[in-house]
Amino acid sequence: MKFIVLGSGTSVPHPNRSSSGYWLETGGGSILLDCSASAVHRMAQEKLDWANLDAIWISHFHLDHIGGLPAFLFGTKYAPETQSRTKPLKIFGAKSLRELIAAFDQSGEYNLLKQPFPVEITEVEPLEKFEIFKGLEAVTAKTPHTDESLAIHLRDKDDKTLVYTADTGFAKTLGVLARDADLLVMECFFVKDKPVETHLQLDEAMHLIRYAQPKQTVLTHLYPEWDAVDFQTEVKKFSPPGAVIEARDGLRLEI
Ligand SMILES: [Zn+2]
Ligand SMILES: [Zn+2]
Repeated sequence: MKFIVLGSGTSVPHPNRSSSGYWLETGGGSILLDCSASAVHRMAQEKLDWANLDAIWISHFHLDHIGGLPAFLFGTKYAPETQSRTKPLKIFGAKSLRELIAAFDQSGEYNLLKQPFPVEITEVEPLEKFEIFKGLEAVTAKTPHTDESLAIHLRDKDDKTLVYTADTGFAKTLGVLARDADLLVMECFFVKDKPVETHLQLDEAMHLIRYAQPKQTVLTHLYPEWDAVDFQTEVKKFSPPGAVIEARDGLRLEI
């Protein structure tokens, strides 16, 4: 698996950290994990084959995770690169995803689902195993963030595993979901003294890493307050098992 960070930041505009989007390339195909407005152009900047993207995972409906989806579909509808495409684009997310896409669509008579290729929308239930495409299996778990928010566990045909928490508050279930993962991509919105329960701060992320023992972890969705501290200095205070890497836009990992 090849993992590329498109956006390591939050919804707050930032000069170096764009909003959520992660590209995952597996032997069976490619998947975009979350689709912020910036992720759409970040795929092109990273020279990724966005025109042949196989699947999109939407973790929840905050705009820094789904805001780019209608814009991307508006782009693929007319882009020269997609006019001869025939394979479907599969979009996965929680209950009401279809309704939300329809609401965007009807607001401007865009006909976003009338593409040169089929668009398949699948709404998933927590803890029910499903296939993203041949060779990539998934299961999700509920997270304390929004009503619909889900973390996802992915396993490719080589048995490599990636867990993406997306936005979440602290929950032990995340530690269970991420157990022994080859890569854990976890939000770490705050450094400390978090003002809300619906995101993580560093000591909570470290607690989950200690429990889950992933081979490596990327901490992401970093709020601008991270600019004022040295990431590795803060992480070392906890002596975590395995590598803990600061997400930055353009980070590439081979799993
Ligand atoms: Zn969110
Ligand atoms: Zn977010």
